Amino acid sequence: MAAKLVAETVRTTLGPKGMDKMLVDSLGDVIVTNDGVTILKEMQIEHPVAKMIVEVAKTQENEVGDGTTTAVVFAGELLKNAEILLDKNVHPTVITKGYSIAAEKSIQIVNSLSEDLKLNDKETLKKIAMTAMTGKKAEIAKEILADLCASAVMQVAEGNYVNLENIKVEKKVGDGTENSELIQGIVLDKEKVHSAMPRKIDNAKILLLDLEIEVRNTEIDAKIQITDPSQLSSFIEMEENMIRSMVEKIKKTGSNVLFCQKGIDDLAQHYLAKAKIFACRRVKKSDLEKLAMATGGSIVSNLDDMSSSDLGFASSVEEKKVGDEEMTYVTGCKNPKAVTILVRGGTEHVVDEIERGLQDALGDLRSAIKSGKVVTGAGSVEIEIAHQLRSFANTLSGREQLAVLAFAESMEIIPRTLAENAGLDPIDSLTELKAAHEKGQKNAGLNVFTGKLMDAKKEGIIEPLNIKIQALKSATEVAELILRIDDILLSGKRESSMPPQGGMPGMM
Ligand code: ADP
Ligand code: MG
Repeated sequence: MAAKLVAETVRTTLGPKGMDKMLVDSLGDVIVTNDGVTILKEMQIEHPVAKMIVEVAKTQENEVGDGTTTAVVFAGELLKNAEILLDKNVHPTVITKGYSIAAEKSIQIVNSLSEDLKLNDKETLKKIAMTAMTGKKAEIAKEILADLCASAVMQVAEGNYVNLENIKVEKKVGDGTENSELIQGIVLDKEKVHSAMPRKIDNAKILLLDLEIEVRNTEIDAKIQITDPSQLSSFIEMEENMIRSMVEKIKKTGSNVLFCQKGIDDLAQHYLAKAKIFACRRVKKSDLEKLAMATGGSIVSNLDDMSSSDLGFASSVEEKKVGDEEMTYVTGCKNPKAVTILVRGGTEHVVDEIERGLQDALGDLRSAIKSGKVVTGAGSVEIEIAHQLRSFANTLSGREQLAVLAFAESMEIIPRTLAENAGLDPIDSLTELKAAHEKGQKNAGLNVFTGKLMDAKKEGIIEPLNIKIQALKSATEVAELILRIDDILLSGKRESSMPPQGGMPGMM
């Protein structure tokens, strides 16, 4: 029951016509999203079984980067159909056996339906990105964003491996989404710390620091007793000297750009500016790591133990005005694989959701390139699997056949939900789809905008094969896991980890 409820919650967000959820936390912060895993992560779920379903979404997100709603909805439907079998006195172990046979067969079927993808096939890559973004806020500038994603991924790919760490997504509120751009290099949401610093550095030799350029405040309260004014000035002078020597050490490495993860003291800023060093402070750790990868530099955490070999290189570091604010562009990096997609959009909620859409698209592209295979979406592949599974089921005997048929039926939840969310009649849509597939139209999918059938391949509704496979696998696994449970018991005496609604026998 708990598991089905979770599936029911995210179901309305599936597909291009899916609705969004507004998530409000205890501080009143708001997220508006259509992204399955974001919803499930943010929801306060207490029930232990429901948490297992959330895990499915997380696995899906980590393994392939998209298809989270699909996996959860499918898992929910597997459980729902299992319940019907349980009512008919089919034993849970028979159901789990049948489900795993069906899952294995489905994976074979979906493999045979897939087609090859070439890395240099930008049009198809764009279609994959667009399919991933349909129905999300990113849709407003889908063409442009898909183009950016495809270009970025093509540039970063090494063989069939795409390291998404190389693609930084930076957001800036203001301006239209269509003005989002792909930048060769790293863009930081930072300005230089001192106005007298140069705005642009060519042939940048970049020092990456993860310590502060300040005289550290002592952790303990200390009292210094001063008896005459000269002592005070010598004390201040000593502090100044410490700062100056820190800046000297930085200068000595030969660097002309400094990205510092922590603070930079006012006086240090002044000396750095005098030395014509471009410096940014409080750069995020993740950005510093990206910079290290991009520029070939290493992150230094001790001023006394650094040399010119730690410096990274970029042909230019420049502060540019984006909207009303300054950002720092590091371009012409040593590693040409580092790129940034700079996302623009009207408000914070919009850019956040666009970013999630972009991450889905990038995840899909990475997966598609990794497996080198794609399938058609819009419910077409699910209906085809169900169709072929049913003929396969006829070759089985007895009760397992029932479970395989239930599995096939569960596959149909995806097109059915796409239809429902689009305000179409799910029974009509499914009947038409099934009829088309019986006639051998393997790519027949549901056009949720017109309510008619379409050839999903011709319309460019294309998804990576391994998203479908992963969804099949993890949904089946969790359904089997839950079906094997016949009771929830409180274990141990850890007070904090008591399942609040546990202890109810015969939950299924
Ligand atoms: P998920 O979290 O599972 O990725 P989405 O909300 O992204 O959920 O929806 C994905 C589903 O929407 C897939 O089944 C996909 O085939 C379908 N889909 C995507 N674009 C279209 C389209 N233009 N027409 C019909 N279905 C589409
Ligand atoms: Mg998706």
